[in-house]
Amino acid sequence: MSTQAETQLAVEGGPPVRNDLLPYGGQTIREDDINAVADVLRSDWLTTGPMVDAFEKDFAAFVGAEEAVAVSNGTAALHAAMHAVGVGPGDEVIVPTLTFAATANSVVFQGGTPVFADVRPDTLLIDPEDVAKKITERTKIIVGVDYAGQPCRYDELRQLADAHDLVLHDDACHAIGAEFNGRPVGALADFNTFSFHPVKNMTTGEGGMITTDDAEAARRMREFRNHGITTTHHERSEQGSWFYEMPDLGYNYRLTDFQCALGRSQLAKVPEWTERRQAIAAQYDEAFASLDGIQPLHMREDATCAYHLYVVQLNLDALSVDRSTVFDALRAEGIGVNVHYIPVHYHPFYRKRFDTKEGLCPNAEAAYERILTLPVFPRMTDGDVRDTVNAVEKVMAAYRA
Ligand SMILES: *Cc1c(COP(=O)(O)O)cnc(C)c1O
Repeated sequence: MSTQAETQLAVEGGPPVRNDLLPYGGQTIREDDINAVADVLRSDWLTTGPMVDAFEKDFAAFVGAEEAVAVSNGTAALHAAMHAVGVGPGDEVIVPTLTFAATANSVVFQGGTPVFADVRPDTLLIDPEDVAKKITERTKIIVGVDYAGQPCRYDELRQLADAHDLVLHDDACHAIGAEFNGRPVGALADFNTFSFHPVKNMTTGEGGMITTDDAEAARRMREFRNHGITTTHHERSEQGSWFYEMPDLGYNYRLTDFQCALGRSQLAKVPEWTERRQAIAAQYDEAFASLDGIQPLHMREDATCAYHLYVVQLNLDALSVDRSTVFDALRAEGIGVNVHYIPVHYHPFYRKRFDTKEGLCPNAEAAYERILTLPVFPRMTDGDVRDTVNAVEKVMAAYRA
């Protein structure tokens, strides 16, 4: 980057750092993943078969939980957990506003009220002090979201939950493979929910999981994913029986056997992929340490991060432009940056239904103006990482205040 032409931003007509757009995330599918799916397609059971149990057992063992319940996606996992706890009209569930909308939506599905808590400005994780302020007589659950892949303060959140007799829930969709105080994500809260969407750290196409040590809650969630019916098709077939009952209303939230086979095959690779994500993040950290235009998320000593996302906050005082200009400039350089997330309380649905307003969560609102997600996924090459660093350095230099 020496000549005038090379440093001219692509957005202003200069040559881009790369010609093809590097996405911010994406799945890794290997030959053995494909074979695992094909084997199930050749078997008798495409759904409610033995692969569901096998995936649940593998997953429970991986995170060190007693029970794992497989469902059709991460949103269904959240919904099933809200059902198992018995959330209903009049109940409040505290959720961070800086998350994917589904975290809060799952409360609304059950007729409950999501109460939005603010995040800490450095980690963008739910702020236990703000949670404490938002607990009322009607609060039933505290939900932490392990934003970007870093576990929340489950020590402080646990204290709050115990003191007020509340259930603790970890929306761990970003964080499979991470740890807090040496304990794996998936065993940190009473309910822990995962998504296996292709952009997440492992995939089943669509898919989700809930982990818990509560066997009765697990039974209720298995019923809930199967129309509220007590036995599955497989169980009735084994017992030679036609009888079943529907004690409660449920949904069809089942995960197929071929997806579960893919899940088992993918789960085995999570440790290797987490290391690769962490190595990419370390390269970014080192490169950005000397750039005053951006600030990576603060990572705590007592936790490891699964780096579902690599999020930076722009230092707007050091820049002459806003986030959307930086976003457009990086996209033009061939770097598929993204923004995670629009605070949920900003969405028109929440404004209309729950009268949420700007000012409700000042830290999340300020962060929203400054956050950018940079590419991180295991298939990224070191060349892809260098392209991202070069593009960020080029754009920061051009827009220095
Ligand atoms: C992806 C995600 C969800 C929803 O998962 P789906 O499988 O897409 O339904 C919920 N919460 C968070 C934090 C997520 O990242």
